[in-house]
Amino acid sequence: MDDSSPRLRAILFDRDDTLIEDVPYNGDPDRVRPMPHAREALQRARRAGLRTGVLSNQSGIARGILTVVQVEAVNAQVERMLGPFDVWRYCPHGPDDGCRCRKPQPGMIRSAAGELGLCPAEVAMIGDIGADVEAAAAAGARGVLVPTSRTRPDEVQAAAVVVPDLVAAVALLLEDAGGLS
Ligand SMILES: [Mg+2]
Ligand SMILES: [Zn+2]
Repeated sequence: MDDSSPRLRAILFDRDDTLIEDVPYNGDPDRVRPMPHAREALQRARRAGLRTGVLSNQSGIARGILTVVQVEAVNAQVERMLGPFDVWRYCPHGPDDGCRCRKPQPGMIRSAAGELGLCPAEVAMIGDIGADVEAAAAAGARGVLVPTSRTRPDEVQAAAVVVPDLVAAVALLLEDAGGLS
């Protein structure tokens, strides 16, 4: 985040336990509950002219617990509650499938940035676990960890940038982007 880094153009968010409460393998739109600060954080990012996206590991599909239709219904509910996002990606694979999209792999960040016409250095990824910020680092994007009480202490310790909530995460990124907040 020095002077040589390109200007921030987009913020990509993890979904579960970052934008909405994590209900494991949830396929029911009625169980979607926004996390505290999610609306305000998104509002600040959008007002600053940044584009927004959601990147989510959904291994419940590979495990046969969830269908694509259910995941997309939950994602649609997230948009109804939190407003429109410019890009969505979810990984349907399991941890042993060796895909390039499941975080901490960088595939979804690269692909989402590409859809927005950006390079990964112009995007940031905010998430609640190590895999989110590891994916950011692997892609060459900025990563910010917003831990919950369920985040493992070693993941908090390993993260380069840790802030207490989503609004603080967006504020920090906007500051780095040149005081757009
Ligand atoms: Mg999460
Ligand atoms: Zn995948």
